[in-house]
This record gives sequence, structure tokens and C-alpha cells, in this order.
Amino acid sequence: MMADWRRRDREVLWHPFTQHQLWDQEDFPVIVSGQGCWLTDAEGNRCLDGISSLWVNLHGHNRPEINSAIREQLDRIAHSTFLGLSHPPGIELAERLLALVPAGLSRVFFSDNGSTAVEVALKMAFQYWNQKQPAEPERKTFIAFVNAYHGDTVGSVSLGGMDLFHAAYRPLLFPVIRVPAPYCYRCPLELPPDKCRDQKPACLHPLEDALSARAPEVAAVVIEPLVQGAAGMLTQPAGYLRGVRELCDRYQTLLIADEVATGFGRTGTLFACEQEQVSPDLLCLGKGLTGGYLPLAATVATEEVFSAFLGPVQSEKTFFHGHSYTANPLACVAALASLELFEKDQTLANVRARAEQMAKGLAEIRKLPQVGEVRQRGLMAGIELVKDKQTKEPFDPRLMMGRQVILAARKRGAILRPLGDVVVLMPPLCISGEETDLLLRAVQESINEVVAQR
Ligand code: PMP
Repeated sequence: MMADWRRRDREVLWHPFTQHQLWDQEDFPVIVSGQGCWLTDAEGNRCLDGISSLWVNLHGHNRPEINSAIREQLDRIAHSTFLGLSHPPGIELAERLLALVPAGLSRVFFSDNGSTAVEVALKMAFQYWNQKQPAEPERKTFIAFVNAYHGDTVGSVSLGGMDLFHAAYRPLLFPVIRVPAPYCYRCPLELPPDKCRDQKPACLHPLEDALSARAPEVAAVVIEPLVQGAAGMLTQPAGYLRGVRELCDRYQTLLIADEVATGFGRTGTLFACEQEQVSPDLLCLGKGLTGGYLPLAATVATEEVFSAFLGPVQSEKTFFHGHSYTANPLACVAALASLELFEKDQTLANVRARAEQMAKGLAEIRKLPQVGEVRQRGLMAGIELVKDKQTKEPFDPRLMMGRQVILAARKRGAILRPLGDVVVLMPPLCISGEETDLLLRAVQESINEVVAQR
């Protein structure tokens, strides 16, 4: 069965972020069903979903509450446009989101994936400066960070600061002002970690320098709050995000917070921004918005930004953007049901308990000879493998150590996906204590196995 699916897949498909020369040799699982934190493949093998189906699933697969919300909506209508019409699921979801997001955000613009949530924020910020009174049309540049990842459409790739993913497209992209971001294990300023304690993180200085030199050109600073996810779960020191907000205020530019990965409980609070009492001017949401069920994203704006788009039709102040499936009603009811589950399941309490448990397990993994650093915020964690723990020398990328570890973990019943040589743990927020232990054990044993084979 599985072999047949694999053969057919290889004949017709082109998978995302996949080198097909490798894919053609790989015994990839073909998933046919899911229950809770578990995925079942075409041969009936069960595997723990250690990455929440690429960081989207929150309350487990096949949740009756979300399933029935979608079924009920399906009997009403599957889709109707948001261009020129409206519908109750979209209205109710916007109301619900506004009650939950950081203070000051008051307008919800729906799209359908994380990249478009970011594209929308970029276009809004750019147009805002052209249309506010008095206008500041020279503000058309963005400040983005080294190692940033904001999605795969051309605007969000322009913000991207990861050469591996983004260098191939550089000639196609618009220029941004790039500033170093925190990566304490390999501090870009080469400072020892204690230099940052009890004071503002020193790595705020490059941002301040960039703003003081070029603020009048800057439409917005774009940040992944608390954790740069795709770069390898790079966690920011306490006070960094708050400092970025303060600098945006001092230099009077907008702050765009991309919470596509960190949003909806991953870091231990519903939104990462809460942990530093930060309200962005534009907030990007995706991934977990529907509990991992259907594609839906949102860009949430302040009234200040929104009001710059008001005017007579002839003024052309309209926001010219919208997708065919904007605010798809099935996705909106899934999102509403997912938000209800946060209360019913006490999801955030579970995240805190499991995060503590994970921290203990990661402390053991940290001791392994080939583990340079473990990084964690809530239930987002990364284990950086290195060739030499003393010098922090990385492995030769051709060895694909991260990939070897996740293949070893697969044999132990855990599905993971690495980011280079960083092994990522990002389980559904509903994961149990037992499942967390299983995941940690699988990873620890897999690292040991791969290292022993060298
Ligand atoms: N922003 C961040 C911070 C992300 O991690 C991602 C996806 N991993 C995106 C944007 C893009 O989201 P999508 O894949 O849904 O387009």
C-alpha cells in the first residue's frame, strides 16, 4: 500500500522545500489519519506528531469540537466571498480575536496563509505613510533582521534574512535595511551572555544605529517576537522585544509583529508580545489560528493605521488587496472552535506544565557531547547540534546531521523536521506528560545513535 502511494507521489508531485533527488530515495511516510497528537500512516503505524504538522496543530488531530463546527458550517455554506459581502463566521471571529490580541489593535484583515498575512502588513504600512496626514511618502523601506523568516512570497522573502532559503531569489527582491538579531549562543556582537543581564540587551544598538541614521525612510520594523523560528528557534533575551517597541516609538515608525509561528499559545502565552507588554501596530497571524485545520490568516491593525485608508472612493485610499478565499467561512468556524478549546481544555496551563517538563528533559539533552545549545520558549524548542562543543564548530552541512537525527527518531515513533542541524520540537499544545516523555526520549536516543555511528 505505502510503496504504491510513494511510487505515485514520486511520479506526479513536487513537494515544498524538498530536493527531489533525495526524496526519490526516501521512505517517506504517507499519512492517512490522525488522532490527538498521533499520525497514522498507510500501513497503520502510529507516530507522534512532534512538529504539530509544521507548527499548526494546537488541540490535536480529529477534535470532535472543531470537526462538528466545520460540519455544521458545511451544511450552511462552504464559501462565499468577503469582497462586497460579509458573513457571520468572519464577523464573529474578528470580534473574538480583537478581544484577545494586544491592546490597541482594532481591525482584522483576513487572508489565507502566514506569508500573505505578512504581505498585507507590508502593503498596509507602506500605504499608511503615503496617506496619513501629513503624508511621509519617503518612508518606503523596511528594517528586517538577520536570520528573519516571514514566508515565501516575494515580499516576505525580501524581508527574509536566511541565505539558505532566500539567497537564490535576491535579484528579484526589494532591498531592506538588515540589522543583526540576537543569537546569544553565537552572539553577533561577540559579547559574553552576562554582559546583557540586568540591562538592555546590547544587540538593540545596531537597530538604534539603523533608525538614527535612516528613520525618515523607514515604514516599519518587522520582527518575529521572542523567537526567530525558522532560523533555528533563536530566542531573544528578556527586554529585547520591549526595546524594539521603544525604539520604534522613539523614531516614530511602525512595528510589525509576525506571530505566525509564535501566536496561539506556543510560547506559553496566547501571543508572544504579551510577555514583554508590547502592542505592535500590525500583527500577523496564521498557522495555529484554525487550530491547524484549515488555511486562514489575519493581519490585525490599529485604528490609526486603518483610518489613513478612509476617504472618498475617488481618493484611491482603498487597500487594494484581497484573495478569493479571504475569510473562508469553514476556516473561520474552525478558528472559533479552536479559540473555545483554549478555555475548555485550559490549554495554556497545559503548555506551561509541559514546557517545564520539556525544560527538564532538554537539560539532560544539553549534556550530550554533540549538543551545543538547547533553546526553548513554551512548547517551541530547538536543539543545536555541533561538531565541537568547546569551539561551537558546526558539522559539515553535507553530513545533514539534523536530518539523520529525525530519521532515527522516526524509527522510534516520532515525526520531526529539522532546521539544518537544529532539531525542532514543537508538539501540539494538548500533548500529555507521557507523550512529552516519549518525544524527549526518542530525540535523546536518536542523537546518541547518530553520534555513535560517526
Ligand atoms: N512567518 C513566520 C514567522 C513563519 O514561521 C512562517 C512559516 N513557517 C510564515 C510567516 C509563513 O507562513 P505560511 O507558511 O503559512 O505562508
